[in-house]
Amino acid sequence: MAKKWTYLFKEGNAGMRELLGGKGANLAEMTNIGLPVPQGFTITTEACTQYYEDGRKINDEIMGQVMEYVAKMEEINGKKFGDLKNPLLVSVRSGARASMPGMMDTILNLGLNDEVVKAMIAGNPDPKFERFVYDSYRRFIQMFSDVVMEVGKKYFEALIDEMKERKGVTFDIELTAADLKELAEEFKAEYKKQLGEDFPSDPVTQLKLAIEAVFRSWDNPRANVYRRDNDIPYSWGTAVNVMPMVFGNLNDDSGTGVAFTRDPATGENKLMGEFLKNAQGEDVVAGVRTPMPISQMEQEFPEAYADFVKVCEILENHYHDMQDMEFTVENRKLYMLQCRNGKRTAQAALKIACDLVDEGHKTEAEAVAMIEPRNLDTLLHPQFDQKALKAATPLGKGLGASPGAACGQVVFTAADAEAWKAQGKKVVLVRLETSPEDITGMKAAQGILTVRGGMTSHAAVVARGMGTCCVSGCSAITMDEENKVFTLAGETFREGDPISIDGTTGNIYKGIIPTVDASIAGEFGRIMGWADKFRRLKVRTNADTPRDAKKARELGAEGIGLCRTEHMFFEADRIAAFREMICADTAEEREVALAKILPYQQGDFEQLYEALEGCPVCIRFLDPPLHEFVPTEEADIELLAKAQNKPVEDIKALIASLHEFNPMMGHRGCRLAVTYPEIAKMQTRAVIRAAINTMKKHPDWNVRPEIMIPLTCDVKELKFVKKVVVETADEEIKAAGAEMEYEVGTMVEIPRACLTADEIAKEADFFCFGTNDLTQMTFGFSRDDSGKFLKDYYDKKIFESDPFARLDQDGVGKLMKMAVTLGRPVNPKLHVGICGEHGGDPTSVEFCHKIGLDYVSCSPFRVPIARLAAAQAAIKEMK
Ligand code: PEP
Ligand code: MG
Repeated sequence: MAKKWTYLFKEGNAGMRELLGGKGANLAEMTNIGLPVPQGFTITTEACTQYYEDGRKINDEIMGQVMEYVAKMEEINGKKFGDLKNPLLVSVRSGARASMPGMMDTILNLGLNDEVVKAMIAGNPDPKFERFVYDSYRRFIQMFSDVVMEVGKKYFEALIDEMKERKGVTFDIELTAADLKELAEEFKAEYKKQLGEDFPSDPVTQLKLAIEAVFRSWDNPRANVYRRDNDIPYSWGTAVNVMPMVFGNLNDDSGTGVAFTRDPATGENKLMGEFLKNAQGEDVVAGVRTPMPISQMEQEFPEAYADFVKVCEILENHYHDMQDMEFTVENRKLYMLQCRNGKRTAQAALKIACDLVDEGHKTEAEAVAMIEPRNLDTLLHPQFDQKALKAATPLGKGLGASPGAACGQVVFTAADAEAWKAQGKKVVLVRLETSPEDITGMKAAQGILTVRGGMTSHAAVVARGMGTCCVSGCSAITMDEENKVFTLAGETFREGDPISIDGTTGNIYKGIIPTVDASIAGEFGRIMGWADKFRRLKVRTNADTPRDAKKARELGAEGIGLCRTEHMFFEADRIAAFREMICADTAEEREVALAKILPYQQGDFEQLYEALEGCPVCIRFLDPPLHEFVPTEEADIELLAKAQNKPVEDIKALIASLHEFNPMMGHRGCRLAVTYPEIAKMQTRAVIRAAINTMKKHPDWNVRPEIMIPLTCDVKELKFVKKVVVETADEEIKAAGAEMEYEVGTMVEIPRACLTADEIAKEADFFCFGTNDLTQMTFGFSRDDSGKFLKDYYDKKIFESDPFARLDQDGVGKLMKMAVTLGRPVNPKLHVGICGEHGGDPTSVEFCHKIGLDYVSCSPFRVPIARLAAAQAAIKEMK
């Protein structure tokens, strides 16, 4: 039997989102629970995958079923495609498993052609109806040309602008039926000019091309970027929903809106949304006209509003979550076009999750599971310094569309935002309105400011998703995008001028207002408390300074998983001693130089122990190659020669001798300790002395130093370095007359260490995966340079994500699993963690949970993300 590629809305349900996509599954569910949904059908995500498998073609079997379902839809609705008496017009909309707002394509008013238009007008003598028909027709031609045939929107917009100028009007709505009719003709001519063929008049051809365009849009650049950012696999594909049109642009008794059952910015339990009279959905989202708040709809459309409020209640009680809905009112009757769990700010997500628990909708575990870990980033991001803010006077105000504070130099295009960011500049992207092509520029910007558009405009929705500060709809701005200048409250801003924006209040300021770290409170603690109850993985932090360590503790770190000691050598007074060590000719000379560094290191470690209040602190011994510490400037080399009392040539020769072709695979990590055991000795003394001092000060703390040897590839190598460490540590402990336990473990960051983990585990108290190097050496990709070519890998669908950001579970992950499986039986006490960047990436954290690691370690600001991701992994497993 042929596969089923199409489903009427009444054949599906909410549980079928993998097959029907989120939009299709929810349209089906709304149909099942009796809500007013125009009855259409969904083409499955599998059909999309098949389209790609068939070389980007819709095969006959799929198209056959589509036509069968068109017939069913016609029967249900009592209208026919292309019919001159009762024509059916449809929308064709994408809908993936995971919502990807604005990333893929939509075509409205499909089914119109000259004959249908004429017949529709002939059937209704109202001149306003004629206007509506031509308005729909010109919209269709424009949208079809842009979305399906990829003729730039700009050509059509220019024609609209010319028409408005000719007619002396400001808004589209002021154009008459005759104007719009003329415009439709101009649009068709433009289409022919651009493509060399007539605009397709057959509705079935239009439909087929539109479905193809939606499938194709799954692979457009912005969708690819969005998927990468949100861990959505390419293999999922998008469904296509074909739905009869209802017309918000029919007359003044009609309109269209977007709303949330709770405030998506704050989480407050109140209906929030926008409504635009005599308009189609695209007008609200595109922000071309500024809509009215939903509350005003109550006065203008009381019956439809009352129905809508009821629908909101039904949907929340049904889905037990905040809903984001699109709807249309046609002749005062409400139609639901979409519902989904609404995207929300982190702050709102926490409040909504807690409220849903308090209201009995969700359990604590469900509440923890519904927070997007990455979203927490926004809570942890800078806000304006309050004092500086008080002293500043806002120049103007837009909508606080996505919270946080941003300051930087004004740029006017997405391309400039990217280019300036690449030069190390901080920018604020200022646009009339944003469109999906702007996504990479929006990502590059500190903040986004738009002249047009409401809280549900593209800029607002996308910025909230990215956690980027955004102020939208500041209509007081007079914008001249072409000349890269705008004015606000009498002030002129040109490219490069400093500006500050507040995405919470919507305020806009001239100049740079300094920002401070975010402070977190309220529901954050409650959710994190719940998360901590469920997680099994411990969460540590990567910190080299007491400041970072304290911050991480505040954010819930349970220890330090990685202290990169080399970072402590770079300060001015230390680097001199370290260079002296490098220049030493004998071990004795080296020891003299190292003795100068010892007290610094010891002091550093003591401060770390203090900050960690008895929690574990894992200190990694020197890792980078020595050439990183020697001077490169002529003057500095001369200074070093003078300090060492050696000829400049000797120093230059020494520096040259440190040069390596592949320093990442060179004389670094424990290889340094093999050559210069005195470095490991000095570091051991510093660790043990610091620990003993701390223990004396805080007898109630459990100070048990963890010494970590980097870059081990062979057990004998580890054994050699460990012997140096143990002899020195024992000597120190004995000399102090103290009693103290300590551990010596190793980083596992070379494939050979994984392959021989059963040998290495005999000598190691712990393993910590350095997945930055492990990824580098498993792929053979330089961790510093691969960014330059990975883009080609994404474009060519070789990779879906950066393996340095998201753990490659198939390759690197397999090595990790092997190391755990080989190591644990040999040494049952072995504890195992990860401290590469992946330790703070949610999907990688889940993997670490699955392979049974004891902890993950990540940068301080990612600690809450890791705590939440670890809890979610445990909750998922419970299910
Ligand atoms: C690693 O390689 O993953 C690691 C944590 O060490 P570093 O980044 O310092 O090389
Ligand atoms: Mg490393």
